[in-house]
Amino acid sequence: MNDPQHQFEDLIAARLAAVRTRIAAAERTYGRPPGAVTLLAVSKTQPVEIIAAAVKAGQRDFGESYLQEAQPKLEALGMENLTWHFTGAVQSNKTLWIAQHFAWVHSVDRLKIAERLNAQRPAHLPALNICLQVKLGAEPQKAGVEPAHLPELARAVAALPRLRLHGLMALPPESADFTTQRHYFRALHEALQALHEQGLHLDTLSMGMSQDLEAAIAEGATLVRVGTALFGARPRKA
Ligand SMILES: *Cc1c(COP(=O)(O)O)cnc(C)c1O
Repeated sequence: MNDPQHQFEDLIAARLAAVRTRIAAAERTYGRPPGAVTLLAVSKTQPVEIIAAAVKAGQRDFGESYLQEAQPKLEALGMENLTWHFTGAVQSNKTLWIAQHFAWVHSVDRLKIAERLNAQRPAHLPALNICLQVKLGAEPQKAGVEPAHLPELARAVAALPRLRLHGLMALPPESADFTTQRHYFRALHEALQALHEQGLHLDTLSMGMSQDLEAAIAEGATLVRVGTALFGARPRKA
């Protein structure tokens, strides 16, 4: 079929296949078991049609960063057969909807937000899966707990019964240099190992995006968050 709808679906399917090939190649190159790395498709700012095309091509995990634009997409595509991950800044007045609709939150960096999510997670849903966002560079504008405060926050979040602490997430300073990329991802891996030694058994390293997923997989990523390489450049926010 050559109509525009099919061409568009074919394009998304081809990009998904290409990203999956990159992930599989990096798993092989860096000695990771096949399938060790989950692909999270970051669909923020993208219209519901493009997400539907990715679903049709077999993708199940999607990430959204802005709650207002995420709401209609989750409602249109449903929460039963897809796994929705919240990856953006969590404001206090947004925790209720997030606790009610998302399966994962990757961007918790304050105990107050974790406590609200814990209190608001509906009883009929499983515990909300959590990653703590860690600040890896000296970038004051970026979110994330300072590494020095991470152990204390991790212990407190792990104790909340309606949350399940899985691991760590980072958005390191951008760099085109592979060695520099690996340096930051290695720091996140080491932070995870330090928590392990304190008796917290965590299984998720959420790190790596379109430009640096190979470096992240080399350093132990279990989940890469990919937007542009799947969906093309994002429309600019108004
Ligand atoms: C936008 C975003 C991504 C995806 O970035 P790309 O470079 O488009 O792959 C990943 N993680 C977070 C937290 C994001 O906000």
